[in-house]
Amino acid sequence: MNEGQASAPAAGGAESAARKSQLEANLKAVHARIARAVVTSGRQDQPELVVVTKFHPASDVLLLAELGVRDVGENRDQEAAAKQAEVAAAGFVLRWHFIGQLQSNKAKSVARYADAVHSVDRPGLVDALAKAVRAAERPALQCFLQVDLGEQATGEQAGGQRGGVLPAHLLELAARVADAEELTLAGVMAVAPLGEGGRSADPEQAFAKLAELSAQLVREHPQATAISAGMSADLEVAIAHGATHLRVGSDVLGRRAAVR
Ligand SMILES: *Cc1c(COP(=O)(O)O)cnc(C)c1O
Repeated sequence: MNEGQASAPAAGGAESAARKSQLEANLKAVHARIARAVVTSGRQDQPELVVVTKFHPASDVLLLAELGVRDVGENRDQEAAAKQAEVAAAGFVLRWHFIGQLQSNKAKSVARYADAVHSVDRPGLVDALAKAVRAAERPALQCFLQVDLGEQATGEQAGGQRGGVLPAHLLELAARVADAEELTLAGVMAVAPLGEGGRSADPEQAFAKLAELSAQLVREHPQATAISAGMSADLEVAIAHGATHLRVGSDVLGRRAAVR
């Protein structure tokens, strides 16, 4: 059989092939940045890349799967559930990471498809996720505790739109996750606070703080070593501060609608 034809995608034709080579080139560039940052920071371990596919169609997730991507991130339940179903129907088993703010009433849905939730930030959500996992009779759900690094100066002025537990309450929340047998405490997660123009204000300071909080957490929970940090704009800084899970969207998939 003709090799070239045999390896062509089943559906989509030329457009899909062009998109696939674009994604492949972008992925390669991101992996090269990661490799360089790992060397620069003198780390022996390799951080995992979670490709954030929010706002991009399931067809892109399928192309990424064909390119060897195994971990994808989504931030809205409805969108994630639909895409996961489509990708599973095509025969790909990926690890789905839920990375967005999560209402407790969505826990049941998320527990059906997600392997990890990176945005666990309050006791009520811990309880809802534990209950949902129990009802779904599925393996334990990996939980990253999202920390709010933006409100430190003002303390209690919580509720930056991005969510997160205040550092002072991190260990309390960790204990609650550790007590739930349906949940596995993976580690911490954060988004660097935004400055002017939507760029990270000071990722260096934010990720240094996150590393400190991670060390505190690991003292009480030795297994909870994961650090989910670093996006397209600041993955190098996150790697320098020990990130184990990078959440990269736009530098792999391209621009998306402005909201996030
Ligand atoms: C969208 C998003 C990302 C990816 O951001 P990019 O700048 O597109 O790489 C990472 N983490 C969270 C929580 C997000 O919502």
